[in-house]
Amino acid sequence: MQTEFHVGIDDTDSRLGGCTTYAAALLFKELVSKGFKPLDYPWLVRLNPNIPWKTRGNGALSLHFTLEEEQLQEVKKIAIATIERTTDLNQRSTDPAVVFLKGPVPTLLSEFSTRALHSILSVREVRHVAKALDAETHLLKGPRGLVGALASIGANLCQDHTFEIIAYRTRENIGTTRRRVNHNSVRLMDAMFGRLTFNNVDHETGRVLICPHGPDPVLLGIRGEDPASVAKAFNQIEIDEPIERAMIFKTNQGTDAHLSCHRKIETLRPYQSTVIAGIVTGAPRVLRGGHVIFRTGDETGSVDCAAYRATGHVRGTALQLVRGDSVTVSGGIRPRPLGELTLNVEKLEVTELVDSVRAENPSCSNCGTRCESMGRAQGFRCRKCKVRLPKTSLIQRLEQRKITVGVYLPPPRAHRHLTKPASRYGIHRHTPFETKNDNIDQALELIGSISIAS
Ligand SMILES: [Zn+2]
Repeated sequence: MQTEFHVGIDDTDSRLGGCTTYAAALLFKELVSKGFKPLDYPWLVRLNPNIPWKTRGNGALSLHFTLEEEQLQEVKKIAIATIERTTDLNQRSTDPAVVFLKGPVPTLLSEFSTRALHSILSVREVRHVAKALDAETHLLKGPRGLVGALASIGANLCQDHTFEIIAYRTRENIGTTRRRVNHNSVRLMDAMFGRLTFNNVDHETGRVLICPHGPDPVLLGIRGEDPASVAKAFNQIEIDEPIERAMIFKTNQGTDAHLSCHRKIETLRPYQSTVIAGIVTGAPRVLRGGHVIFRTGDETGSVDCAAYRATGHVRGTALQLVRGDSVTVSGGIRPRPLGELTLNVEKLEVTELVDSVRAENPSCSNCGTRCESMGRAQGFRCRKCKVRLPKTSLIQRLEQRKITVGVYLPPPRAHRHLTKPASRYGIHRHTPFETKNDNIDQALELIGSISIAS
């Protein structure tokens, strides 16, 4: 009797040795080499990026196999041994967890996974769901990693998804921050594969984005629309250091999956990822540091929206909003002292612009000097010749709006992992989960063909 078998892994990141994607790549390769049959590429699932205690893009991994009943124990043993081997348990910030689920993914789990993209889930809740699903959970330390481990199994990657090829460094190079990757070859690759890959280069600054900067084991990662394209793009890069291994992941990166939940303002809570639609209720103001705040309201309340300096055009657009404009704002909710909330803007859609009218005091009919107001409802007076003008002489000047209706995004260098880049607008990849076995054979062939010789 064959059965689907899913392994979810979260939070094995450690500052020096580990990285959850590495553990998953290792485990996938090991299981395949022992003859176990995968259903799909390993999944790299990004969850709610606005949870403060999660770092590095809140990623979890899952592997999906089809197994004989009598193989389950061996696969579990290998999985736990691999995670233990790649995890540095002394790292205070990690709470590694592994979850096993037998059989097809039930709706309860898909719903849980969707909520893990935009809400905060409690450990109590995840334990409850795991129990209801009869999922087997293994904690190497605290319980925090459980949310990601379980959620990654139920991720809705049959909806929009992308791929990432990740190459890993050899032991002697891990910990050095400079990666010997030829940046010109990355720009060339970007020119060749720009439509099939994304976020290789930040075009405003020319900055190469495929290499991380920390001491982690990732040498580089290339994101794109399909496995063959990211593999080909990878082969174009000139790399002057040995590669320990490379793996292709199916992922929800670049899909805006965390921005699917539209909420009314009164229901906003700290650390949600959310979308609100409303009307700008006041003139934007600029804070020290250049950040722009504009208040947006719907029929249930209003909230400050913050467009940080790094968001580029988003900030520039926010600055041009006026009271009465209609906007759809996406981003993360942050608490402020006194219970106030701020929505940190990740995407700004201007849906309607009102006429912007600027009131101007009239000029004196006698000398032409600008008159001064004598106070509310009092009309105007010329300081020089004391001419008085009625209140109705106030001039309403229609101002040319400097922005247009449309979607505004931060530059690629400021993107979250989940941010859907402008180049992917209009693309929505949809495939059913049942990956046929002839596809997986192709996938394994492709993974095997990635050149890691240097
Ligand atoms: Zn005058």
